[in-house]
Amino acid sequence: MTERWDVAVVGGGAAGFFGAIQCAEAAEGARIVILEASRRVLTKVRISGGGRCNVTHHCFDPDQMARRHYPRGHYELIGPMYRFGVTETMEWFQSRGVELKTEDDGRIFPVTDDSQTIIDCLQLAADDAGVTVRMSSPVRRLKPSTSDDASFELLLGDEKTILADRVLVATGGIRLSRSAAMVDEFDHSLVEARPSLFTFDIDDERIAGLQGISVEPVEMEIKMARLDSRGPLLITHRGFSGPAVLEMSAWGARRLYDLDYQFELRVDWLPDVKDVEGRLIAKRKEAGRRQVRTLAPFEHLPNRLWARLVDAAEVPEKCQWSSLPAKSRRRLVEQLKRSVFFVGGKSTHKEEFVTAGGIPTDEVDMRTMESRFHRGLHFAGEVVDLDGITGGFNFQAAWTTGYLAGRSMAQAIKDG
Ligand SMILES: Cc1cc2nc3c(=O)[nH]c(=O)nc-3n(C[C@H](O)[C@H](O)[C@H](O)COP(=O)(O)OP(=O)(O)OC[C@H]3O[C@@H](n4cnc5c(N)ncnc54)[C@H](O)[C@@H]3O)c2cc1C
Repeated sequence: MTERWDVAVVGGGAAGFFGAIQCAEAAEGARIVILEASRRVLTKVRISGGGRCNVTHHCFDPDQMARRHYPRGHYELIGPMYRFGVTETMEWFQSRGVELKTEDDGRIFPVTDDSQTIIDCLQLAADDAGVTVRMSSPVRRLKPSTSDDASFELLLGDEKTILADRVLVATGGIRLSRSAAMVDEFDHSLVEARPSLFTFDIDDERIAGLQGISVEPVEMEIKMARLDSRGPLLITHRGFSGPAVLEMSAWGARRLYDLDYQFELRVDWLPDVKDVEGRLIAKRKEAGRRQVRTLAPFEHLPNRLWARLVDAAEVPEKCQWSSLPAKSRRRLVEQLKRSVFFVGGKSTHKEEFVTAGGIPTDEVDMRTMESRFHRGLHFAGEVVDLDGITGGFNFQAAWTTGYLAGRSMAQAIKDG
């Protein structure tokens, strides 16, 4: 006999689990199954935040939360964040015994610094609420049911079919085109997938061998993509990383793809120093006999980077501050305020990456995460064209959209 469920959740990640739990808690007795393709659930939660799981971010204003941190979804997520935002997420985890802590940069982690704490919490909540979890159960296709008994037919990998009244698609950002194919009977389209949150590859003498050096803050600009950002920059063995770079890669995920990840990047190493040339001139009097290369006048610029910028400005070797030629001084100002680097490609940021693209938000009712084309079909998490910058925003989108989908499905079950 064909199995029949009130709700089938496709995908056992953060959004699928949260949606299933919310639905089960609000509609007691509902028969809910999570179908997960792989042999483990919550795999991304496990590896997230370097194994610590950056659950959310210290930003309690729903409006600011959405507008500032979601390159895709900054407008669409405002309403959802008011309904279930950071405050509600923290309360939910804390009410289940997960203690959370906020780090200096606003990222929120479990105090255990262990993602297993979050996994245990979600699995226990699902279990307590009576959710069934099936691993190694890939859903190949989803279609309207021909039987009067249920609304949807789900075709599984082993050729089995199951029936469900409601379906939550929470298949994440990897293999988005497969997720779209799975629901193509419902006329949904797909915003093409593009990587987001990556680092910049730069082959340049000024930074060769300086990996590990970070400068905070810098301001950066990619003129040809109309992008800028401000924040800490980290020099790596391949180029530039750090929050300022990752943020730029997220806001520019599509534009930088269109440039084939080849572009000019301008860096202001001293964004808070207004009169850089004046400071260099002052050094002439303060330390005239000292060598320019070995006496950096700006505290937050590491000595080794300063020396490279001095070389790039073609300051004569062993030149003293008192004899620094005006031409060299102006070239040095250019290096400090407008260093141009050529970015020749991108690398994966292993700490966190996401996919831009997915089911377009205008095809989804953002109050319920229900398809605008087919009743009973819901979406949550990264499968929707929503993604955030690094810092806990991507999980917050999964909790928020999972909550809305779960509660809306529960309401429909209760309404019969
Ligand atoms: C290395 C790394 C670290 C990260 N760290 C953080 C962090 O600390 N904080 C943060 O906010 N974000 C982080 N992210 C991003 C975050 O993990 C994702 O945005 C989030 O997991 C999305 O949740 P989801 O449930 O939508 O998708 P996923 O977590 O990808 O879950 C989707 C699930 O669906 C399953 N699936 C897919 N297709 C099918 C199918 N046809 N049938 C059945 N099952 C299917 C997949 O196997 C998967 O288990 C990180 C990402 C990476 C890659």
